[in-house]
Amino acid sequence: MNLNNVMPWDAPAPEKAGRPSAFGLLPEDLKALGCPNDANHLFSLLQRPWAWKEGAPKLGKDNLAFLESVADLSLPGIDESIESLDGTRKLALTLSDGRRIETVHMPRVVKNARVTMCISSQVGCAMGCTFCATGAMGIQRNLSAGEIVGQVLSVMSALGPGTSSRLTLVFMGMGEPLHNLDHVHRAIHVLTHSAGLCIPARRITVSTSGLVSGIEKLAKLKPRPLLAISLNASSDTARSRTMPVNKVWNLEKLRAALDSWGLRSNEKFTFEYVLLAGENDTDEDADRLVAWLGALSKGHNLNLIPMNEHDASEFCEPAEARIQAFSDRLKSHGCFVTVRRSRGRDVNAACGQLVKR
Ligand code: SF4
Repeated sequence: MNLNNVMPWDAPAPEKAGRPSAFGLLPEDLKALGCPNDANHLFSLLQRPWAWKEGAPKLGKDNLAFLESVADLSLPGIDESIESLDGTRKLALTLSDGRRIETVHMPRVVKNARVTMCISSQVGCAMGCTFCATGAMGIQRNLSAGEIVGQVLSVMSALGPGTSSRLTLVFMGMGEPLHNLDHVHRAIHVLTHSAGLCIPARRITVSTSGLVSGIEKLAKLKPRPLLAISLNASSDTARSRTMPVNKVWNLEKLRAALDSWGLRSNEKFTFEYVLLAGENDTDEDADRLVAWLGALSKGHNLNLIPMNEHDASEFCEPAEARIQAFSDRLKSHGCFVTVRRSRGRDVNAACGQLVKR
C-alpha cells in the first residue's frame, strides 16, 4: 500500500455544474470572480448564519444574481437528527450529489454554554481501521472546502450556537482529514477568517490516524489548527493489525513527524487511544505507550476511549476495572489522562460509530 500515490478519491469533489461552492470562497476569490459589491461584506453575509433567514443567507438582489452566475449556493441539508439522552445529536446531511455524511452536535451546558461540533472531511474513509464503523464502509469521495464549511453553517443555522465564540470544531467525523488536506485547509482558512465565523485556529482540531506526509505538510501551513493523533496501540505489530496506515508510516516515523511539528508555547497534542479488550489494554501496553511518547508523555492530553461496540467490528470494551488500571498506570508515569466516556453512544454518534446507513 502506498498512501502517497494519487488515489481516485483525490479528485476534487464534484461541484455543481462546474461552479465552486459559494461557501468555500474567500473574499479575494469573490473579488476575482467579479463581485459587484464589497467582497468582504458579501463573505460576511454568506458566513454568519445568525443573520440568515429561514436557513439561507440574506444576500440582496445584486449579490444573489452575481453568486448564482458564478457559484453554487446549495448547502448540505439536514435529513435526520437523532438526539441522545446526553443531549448529543447525530445528524445525517445530504450533499448536492445525494451522498450522505454525518455530523455530531454536542452542546455542553456549563457556566457559559458551548458547542463542540464533530465534522466530516470525506464520505467514508480509506484508512480501514478495524475498530471503526466509518472505516468499514470504505471511501466514496472527498468533501470540497465549501461542503465542509457548509456542513458547519447548516448545523449552526439549525441548532446553534448563536455566535461562533461558543463553537469548537473537531475533524473527527467521517474521513481522514489529512487525506483531503487541500480542501480541509481551505475550509479552515474560511472558518477562521475575521469577516466570517472568525473561529481561532486553536479552537479547531484536526485528528489524524498518523498520515505522516499530511502531518508534515500541515505543520507548515497557516492558519494551523491543533493536532490530535489517533494512536490505539503501543507497538508496530499491534498497530499494523488494527490500523493499516502503520504499515506505511510506523510509530518511529510518526514520532519523528511530531518532533518536527514545531510546537508553539501553550500548544498541546491530543493523543487518542481507543481501548480494545484483550488487544491493547495491558499494563505492558501502557508502559510501552509512555516510552514511545517520551517527552510528550507530560504536558499533553492523553484521551482513553473505551471501545464503542458496533456491528462492523469484533472488538469489545474492556471491563471497568481494566480501564481504571490502564489509566492509573499511565498516571503513575506522570501522564495527563482523561477517560472519555463517549457522548451519544445510544444513537451511534460516538467515536468510531459514524457510518452511512
Ligand atoms: S478511525 Fe478515522 S482514520 Fe480510521 S477508519 Fe475511522 S474515520 Fe478513518
